[in-house]
Amino acid sequence: MLDVRKDFPILAQSVNDEPLVYLDNAATTQKPTAVLDVIRRYYDQDNANVHRGVHTLAERATADYEAAREKVRAFINAKSTKEVLFTRGTTTSLNWVAQFAGQILKAGDEIVISILEHHSNIVPWQEVAKRTGAILKFVYLKDGELDMSDLRNKITDRTKFVSIAHVSNVLGVINPIKEIAAYAHEHGAYMVVDGAQSTPHMAVDVQDLDADFFAFSGHKMMGPTGIGVLYGKQDLLNQFEPVEFGGEMIDFVYESHSTWTELPWKFEAGTPNIAGAIGLGATIDYLHEIGLDAVHQHEQELVDYILPKLQEIEGLTIYGPTDRAKRTGVIAFNIAGLHPHDVATALDMEGVAVRAGHHCAQPLLNYLDTPATARASFYIYNTKADCDKLVEALQKTKEFFQID
Ligand code: PMP
Repeated sequence: MLDVRKDFPILAQSVNDEPLVYLDNAATTQKPTAVLDVIRRYYDQDNANVHRGVHTLAERATADYEAAREKVRAFINAKSTKEVLFTRGTTTSLNWVAQFAGQILKAGDEIVISILEHHSNIVPWQEVAKRTGAILKFVYLKDGELDMSDLRNKITDRTKFVSIAHVSNVLGVINPIKEIAAYAHEHGAYMVVDGAQSTPHMAVDVQDLDADFFAFSGHKMMGPTGIGVLYGKQDLLNQFEPVEFGGEMIDFVYESHSTWTELPWKFEAGTPNIAGAIGLGATIDYLHEIGLDAVHQHEQELVDYILPKLQEIEGLTIYGPTDRAKRTGVIAFNIAGLHPHDVATALDMEGVAVRAGHHCAQPLLNYLDTPATARASFYIYNTKADCDKLVEALQKTKEFFQID
């Protein structure tokens, strides 16, 4: 198992007089010192605006910013840095794709998403459907995972976009994106992937998946907040118009009209989140040092360890697939007779941080027929001792609320 806790000083604290056990990694992750140091160094030594300056600091900042783009390119195996757009995060990335879609969708065209999507992969599509008259269709589930026969029925020759999460932030299930992309392409549709919950936890290869667009956030993979990525195939990005306008993205500005600069800057209007991008680059370096296979392996061991222990707790329901090979370290659960908010509050008294609520997936929870769940989500710095503490704190919670 990995032993990286020393890299995360934030974890060495007590919460409510108990050692902190941080199990809210699907919401956001902690940042290693190596990443914080790089961000600090950038502001201490190199801070300047990118691309326009000819002075030394501006050149250094630009070189670091563009080096981060190359790190992202290699990380997801994009063909070119022209295909890597920096955004504020997955939400912005998916909004951009939906706006691109708005440039070509016509009334009666179809968009296929699934019931397990995060709101950021639902609401932008609802909005573009409303504007264009396109029809939004949902794929439903079978045994806690996507129902692939439903997916095959929902994707037709009228489908123009298919947009699916690589990993669900509630069920933890890993969706067969490669297979879905192949099916979408057979029908002439573009494949959009919400990679917010996969990229931090497993090796991602956008070419192998054959994703047309792939979105993810820095903060869920130990990077800073406010930085994310939209990958898009170069020919597609060339085809679509930018959705934000202003400085940095133009070639020439005339009184009557303007022309756009080349990829990837054509989409990046305004001063970008330079420190964020550099921090994301440092996160990728850190993840490479550990190795994504080791990350995945570590989390699988934790899931193997905790799942049977949770399953032994009477009255505890786990959502998502039972086959652990199909899931990551995101475990949503409920305890009969207890509101998940009470569970999360009681766990916090024991120093255990979990999330409770709808996890920005209200249609999914509605489909699962529960208004809310608790959710424990694991990452590389979690240990088997953290798992034991969670189980022990859950038992205490049940005793406290006198649930047998
Ligand atoms: N999709 C999924 C699957 C997520 O888990 C999240 C974050 N909870 C998002 C999208 C949105 O990411 P962000 O808030 O970083 O834009």
